[in-house]
Amino acid sequence: MNIDLRSDTVTKPTKGMLNAMTQAQVGDDVFREDPTVNELETRIALMFGKEEALFFPSGTMANQTALKLHTNPGDQVICDKYAHIYNYESGGASFNSGVSCKLIDGNRGMFNAEQVLEAINPNAYYYSQSSLVEIENTTNKGGGACWDFDEILNIRKVCDDNKLGYHLDGARIWNALVAKNETAKQYGEVFDTIAVCLSKGLGCPIGSVLVGDSEIMKDAIRIRKIFGGNMRQAGYLAAAGLYALDNNIERLNEDYKKAKEISEELTKLAIIESVEPVETNIVIFELNEDVNENHFLQQLAKKNIHIISMGDRKLRMVTHLDYTDIMHEELINVLNFI
Ligand SMILES: *Cc1c(COP(=O)(O)O)cnc(C)c1O
Repeated sequence: MNIDLRSDTVTKPTKGMLNAMTQAQVGDDVFREDPTVNELETRIALMFGKEEALFFPSGTMANQTALKLHTNPGDQVICDKYAHIYNYESGGASFNSGVSCKLIDGNRGMFNAEQVLEAINPNAYYYSQSSLVEIENTTNKGGGACWDFDEILNIRKVCDDNKLGYHLDGARIWNALVAKNETAKQYGEVFDTIAVCLSKGLGCPIGSVLVGDSEIMKDAIRIRKIFGGNMRQAGYLAAAGLYALDNNIERLNEDYKKAKEISEELTKLAIIESVEPVETNIVIFELNEDVNENHFLQQLAKKNIHIISMGDRKLRMVTHLDYTDIMHEELINVLNFI
């Protein structure tokens, strides 16, 4: 038994999902003739109450396209210091869109409207032009934390007052919706663009979708093409997304329950300094200063348990669709004897 808690991206399609994929009706999506891609895009646009949606091979490409849609070269994007677009997209913001990031020193990847106001550059020609605010829900490096929706609304007001775009990196928005009992429509009403992943908690092998109204999305397909993201019979992949929307959203609660139980076990261990609060499926914890991180990781690996380091002495475990009850029992056992 191999227990892989490095990420919720390690899942493999289930039989049901594979069946849905092989039975998909497909066509050439470059001619916009793939009925399954069209169905997925329409369905996700409707869920978020937006006019348009576009299917992407990755969340990175969906985010990068959004950055390009909202900015001109030389502009500045306001985001948290933990933001995925800043830390984990290979410098794409500057490479693809020629923009810099103004980093907010937030809390677990989240900040407030006042901090956004402070981050906006004055309107003088020698400043970089602030043009976009980007937030992440749930936060990845922030340990799966969920935003307070009221603060999201407060930031919208700042964006309106200062003519800034507002993009949500919703790679794990499904996790937030389930954890906080919120709706996709609520988010669609607030943000100009939202990127959502199907390949994280929802268990698809590939796929993300960018949603927005027609005006901002007008050039999205052109930019996707420029980024090399044109796809042909992508309906086989979109079918996995449709299957996941039907079957894999509500069950995210099971991942949270396991993540909470893991955090409770970790809290009891003398070798662990602290465990961050668990709201969804990500557990981030810190070892005591005298514990060797590599040694700890190796100890777990010997028991076929795999987790990753986030740097700064922080380690991460992520629960997911392929992390079964039996694996969970085994992990708790191993932790008890470590
Ligand atoms: C995973 C992730 C993405 C997109 O990642 P891809 O691997 O390119 O699909 C974007 N933002 C966040 C917060 C993520 O966790």
